Amino acid sequence: MSETVIPTTLPTVTGREMVAIQDALTTRTLTGKGKYSALCQSWLEASMTGGKAFVLTSCTSALEIAALLAGLQPGDEVIVASYTYVSTVNAFVVHGAAPVFIDLDDATMNMDVTRIEAAITPRTKAIVPVHYAGIACDMDAVMAIADRHGLMVVEDAAMACGGTYKGRALGTIGHLGCISFQEKKVFTSGGQGGALLINQQSLAARAEIIYEHGTNRGQFTRGEVNFYRWLDVGINATMSEVQAAFLYPQLQAAPEIPAHRRHLWSRYYKRLLPLMQAGVMQMPIVPEGAVHNAAVFWFRLKDAARRGEFIKFMADRGIITQPQFVPLYSSLFGQKVGRFVGEDRVTTRSAAEIVLLPLYSELAEEQQEIVIQRALEFWNGVTLKA
Ligand SMILES: *Cc1c(COP(=O)(O)O)cnc(C)c1O
Repeated sequence: MSETVIPTTLPTVTGREMVAIQDALTTRTLTGKGKYSALCQSWLEASMTGGKAFVLTSCTSALEIAALLAGLQPGDEVIVASYTYVSTVNAFVVHGAAPVFIDLDDATMNMDVTRIEAAITPRTKAIVPVHYAGIACDMDAVMAIADRHGLMVVEDAAMACGGTYKGRALGTIGHLGCISFQEKKVFTSGGQGGALLINQQSLAARAEIIYEHGTNRGQFTRGEVNFYRWLDVGINATMSEVQAAFLYPQLQAAPEIPAHRRHLWSRYYKRLLPLMQAGVMQMPIVPEGAVHNAAVFWFRLKDAARRGEFIKFMADRGIITQPQFVPLYSSLFGQKVGRFVGEDRVTTRSAAEIVLLPLYSELAEEQQEIVIQRALEFWNGVTLKA
């Protein structure tokens, strides 16, 4: 191992977090719903066309509130892709729904929207598109299908804050959007955190009640009622003020943070293109109309059997690269609670081929150059004849 190890990811830190946290401490409203939570929510709401944002403890809790708002009954179904973090699906399974998995689009590893309609049954309640790696799903197609069938769309934009689709922020297009500020995402609220975006006006009142632990405390706070009462189910997913104070300076540094990451992402793409042209690997295609946030940089080895060898080759040279998710549908629990509809042409194969290269805000170009050189060396002399 070399002395300095280049990790796959590091949390974003701007250096301005402590000043905001110090300020938050003086407000004595550490439980949340204070100054910094309001600032973060306003920042999110500025990207929405109406609607309401809540900053929360995690994207998982945002997805759980979404599942409650979808009014799921046991046996109801949600349509998802298998290449995602378990939370995307767990949040709905906890509330009794069965995940119905469809195949992936080969270019983006997002859900293949042409497979959605075949998976719809009378029990289908929602479609949950995941913007994998911060690259947008074909939201026009998803929304059109949802409209035709009267389904709710919950965007899992966990990785995608800072990315857009046809000029609209990811997470603001579906009826509900869920964002993560966990440390591996582009923006972080100190390691854990998330947000729920309520884009559909008719869901706002109940969303607030669930967020307020099942009460109309929101109305009470605004002086609209004299008491607040227990009205519905609810959860405590409130982000603390310290977390919100950590997050706010990062949101203020948007769009520079994703812009810098996109610069690194494009350098990888350009420098590794000869490998793709030689047919030994494949990189994502960012669809027209999408601006991604460079959440991660992935490529797929055409020969999946060599992935372990690649990861070891890089690790021996002080560079940590990694696979990402194991497909949910073929996992033990996925087989028990869900089913796959259609043919698995991309999911299992792509999950076995994928590798993430180091990409984070502090990654220096000189370090990235080392990563690029080593990756080129792995295939050196074998295939680069074009
Ligand atoms: C990170 C992630 C989540 C979970 O986010 P948390 O904030 O950790 O709960 C859900 N879905 C996807 C696609 C993710 O990448």
